[in-house]
Amino acid sequence: MQKKVVVIGGGIVGLSCAYYLQKAGHQVTVIDKGDFSTGTSHINAGYLTPSHIVPLAAPGMVKKGLKWMFRPDSPFYIQPRLDPNLLRWGWKFMRASNQNHVDKSLKVIRDINLFSKDLYFELYNSDAFDFQLESKGLLMAYQSSKAEKEEAWVVNQARNLGLEVTQLDQGQLNKLQPEVEMNVAGAFYYKCDAHATPSLFMKQLLEQCQKMGVECRSNTTLTGIAHDQQKISMLHTSKGSIEAEEYVMAAGTWSQDLLGPLGVRIALEAGKGYEIHTKEDTAIQLPAILLEPKIAVTPMQGFTRFAGTMELSGINHKIVPRRVAAIAKGVHAFYPNINLSQKHLNDARCGLRPLSPDGLPYIGKHPNCKNLTLATGHAMMGWSLGPATGKLVEEVLSNKKTSLPLAPFLPTRKTG
Ligand SMILES: Cc1cc2nc3c(=O)[nH]c(=O)nc-3n(C[C@H](O)[C@H](O)[C@H](O)COP(=O)(O)OP(=O)(O)OC[C@H]3O[C@@H](n4cnc5c(N)ncnc54)[C@H](O)[C@@H]3O)c2cc1C
Repeated sequence: MQKKVVVIGGGIVGLSCAYYLQKAGHQVTVIDKGDFSTGTSHINAGYLTPSHIVPLAAPGMVKKGLKWMFRPDSPFYIQPRLDPNLLRWGWKFMRASNQNHVDKSLKVIRDINLFSKDLYFELYNSDAFDFQLESKGLLMAYQSSKAEKEEAWVVNQARNLGLEVTQLDQGQLNKLQPEVEMNVAGAFYYKCDAHATPSLFMKQLLEQCQKMGVECRSNTTLTGIAHDQQKISMLHTSKGSIEAEEYVMAAGTWSQDLLGPLGVRIALEAGKGYEIHTKEDTAIQLPAILLEPKIAVTPMQGFTRFAGTMELSGINHKIVPRRVAAIAKGVHAFYPNINLSQKHLNDARCGLRPLSPDGLPYIGKHPNCKNLTLATGHAMMGWSLGPATGKLVEEVLSNKKTSLPLAPFLPTRKTG
C-alpha cells in the first residue's frame, strides 16, 4: 500500500531511503536544513568497506582513547568535558568494547556491507546513473611490525569470512603502483572493497530522486515534532508544517537531539573527521589506509582525497589546524613525494560521523513511536551502507521480509 513518507535528512542515508521508498511506490518528501550539497556524506573517503568488519567498539580501543586523549595531534581524540550524553555514550562504548561483541559483529558487518556494495553496483549498471565506482580494493599499509600484527588479526577474520585478502611486500606494492613511492614495510590488500567519489554520486542520487517524483525541500530545518498516542502527527519546520503517515529519521549526528522529545532515546556522539584534497597528479591509483596515522587515501574523479581523525568534541564544525597538519604529516611519511601545501591545509573541511556506542547503525522502528523509522548511527560506514539502509527501510515500511535480519540494528538493542 502506498504511503506518504517524510524523510528527515538528505545525506547518503536519507536520500537512499527516499530513492528506494519512492521506487517502491511510496510518496516521499525529504527535508534538509542544508542545500543537499555539503556535509559528511560529501566529504568522506568514499570507501565501500566489506574490509571494516571490526566495529569501533573493540578491545583495546578504550585504552588507546585514553592514551591519545592527551595528544592533540592523535588520530582518535576525546575532548574531556562534563556532558551527560558523552558520559552515557562513553559508558556504553566501554561496555561494548569486548571480544564477544566483536565476534558477534564480524559477520553482521560483512553481510550488510556486501549487500550495500551489490546495490551500489546495481545502480551503477542501471541506465539512470553514471558515476565513478571502482573495484580496486583497499590497501592497509603499515610501517611497523606492531601495526602489521594488529591488522593480521583482522585479515585472519576476514579470510575466515570468505573475503579475499593478500599480503604484499614493498616490491610487490611497487609493481602494482610503479609511479608511486611508498615508504612502507608492506600492506594487506583487501580485494573486496570498492570506492566512489561521494559528491558525484550524491548529486546524481538527488537528481534521480527528483526525477522519480520525490519532493526535496532544501534549507528546511526540522524545529519541532507534534505527537500524540505514540505517533507523530506533524513536523514543524522552518518553512511550515508537514504531515505524513510515516516518518524516517536520517538526520545523522543530529538525530539524537531531534528524537529526544518523542521519548525515543538512542546514544549518538559526533565523530569529527577531516578531509584534505589535491587536484595535482599524485599518480595514486589504489585506495589505501595508512595504518599507524589512520589516514584514508582515495583516488577520486579529478582529485586525491586524504581523510582522517576521529575527534569526539561534540556537534561543531570547528577545524583544528594541528589535526589537519597531522594528516598532511602522516601522508608525507608514507608518500615521501607528496607535500601538501598550506593552501591545501587551509581548504580542509570536516564532517561528523554519527557514532553509536557499539559501532552498528540504528535501523528500524522504535516501539515508543509507531510511525517512526530510524536510519542513523552509521559511524565510519555510512557511505558504504547508505543503499543497504535505504533498501531495508523501504522493506520495513512496505511490510516486506527484510533482505537481512534487522535484530542487530534495531534501535532498542542493548548497545553496551
Ligand atoms: C573524514 C570522513 C571520512 C569518512 N569515510 C568514509 C568511508 O570511506 N566510507 C564510509 O562508509 N563512511 C565514511 N565516513 C562516514 C560517512 O561519511 C557517514 O557515516 C555518513 O555520511 C553519514 O550519513 P548520514 O546521511 O547518516 O548523515 P549526514 O551526511 O550527516 O546527513 C544528515 C543530514 O541531516 C540534515 N539535518 C540535520 N539536522 C536537521 C534538521 N533539524 N532538519 C533538517 N535536516 C537536518 C543535515 O543537514 C544533513 O544533511 C567518513 C566520515 C568522515 C567524516
